[in-house]
Amino acid sequence: MNRKRRRIVVKVGTSTLTNELGKRNLHRIEELAMTLADIQNMGNEVVLVSSGAIAVGANKMRLSEPPREMRMKQAAAAVGQCENMFLYDKFFGYYSKTVAQILLNAEDIQQEEKKENLSNTFEALLEHGIIPIVNENDSVSYTEIESEERLFGDNDKLSAVVAVLCRADMLVILSDIDGFYDKDPRFYRDAKLISRVDTIDESIYALAGGAGSRRGTGGMKTKLEAAELAVSQGISTLVMNGSDPSRLYDIFKGKKVGTLFAAKR
Ligand code: ADP
Repeated sequence: MNRKRRRIVVKVGTSTLTNELGKRNLHRIEELAMTLADIQNMGNEVVLVSSGAIAVGANKMRLSEPPREMRMKQAAAAVGQCENMFLYDKFFGYYSKTVAQILLNAEDIQQEEKKENLSNTFEALLEHGIIPIVNENDSVSYTEIESEERLFGDNDKLSAVVAVLCRADMLVILSDIDGFYDKDPRFYRDAKLISRVDTIDESIYALAGGAGSRRGTGGMKTKLEAAELAVSQGISTLVMNGSDPSRLYDIFKGKKVGTLFAAKR
């Protein structure tokens, strides 16, 4: 096993955290927490970027359908964020890990001073063995929930921005699919998994379709954009299935998993 210490940012989306009924997938959240705690115990540093606040909040508020109005989305995000952090605190706490909540908006990383503060906060948390859990501050910012071209696209891009901000060695995006295929597997049965991409160019973007599951929102396009940003800063990016979080161990065993977007050095 490769014992080199690595700083790894893991992004988990709504479709991994919730089930078909929109309720929290407790088994998976617990398994994710256990695996990440273990990966940290192996001497690595872990940052988790987690979305799913609106879906979880809407469920807890017993809304009959997903909120459409901005104020309801933001209210649901406020309820859901609390619930998600409660669960993370509980599950990570079970493995003696301390977590910290970091909520940010696009503007926060566009201002040099705020960016530096954030970066210092990450360093201080990681130095103390704390696992930062990051999400968009959806209850404050409306540009991100509302606009089609959201800067962060269901946190895919946020995860890349965070990876760059904390100078991670690797970004791992957990998806509802095994990786990046040569065409959208939802529509093409003969789609083939691409295990490694060295250059993200127009021809690669042309293979990506839109969002797949009803609960996911980014699709492969926002994952490619995230990977493009990360690899340009020397951070290799892996897109893999989040349905079995224990597959994260494969990364450290040097086993092939998902699609690797190789960093430009
Ligand atoms: P999540 O963010 O949870 O992974 P998304 O629905 O946002 O969920 O993104 C994953 C979906 O992207 C897949 O389920 C798939 O249907 C769709 N997709 C479109 N093009 C591709 C492709 N070339 N390779 C893999 N998945 C693709």
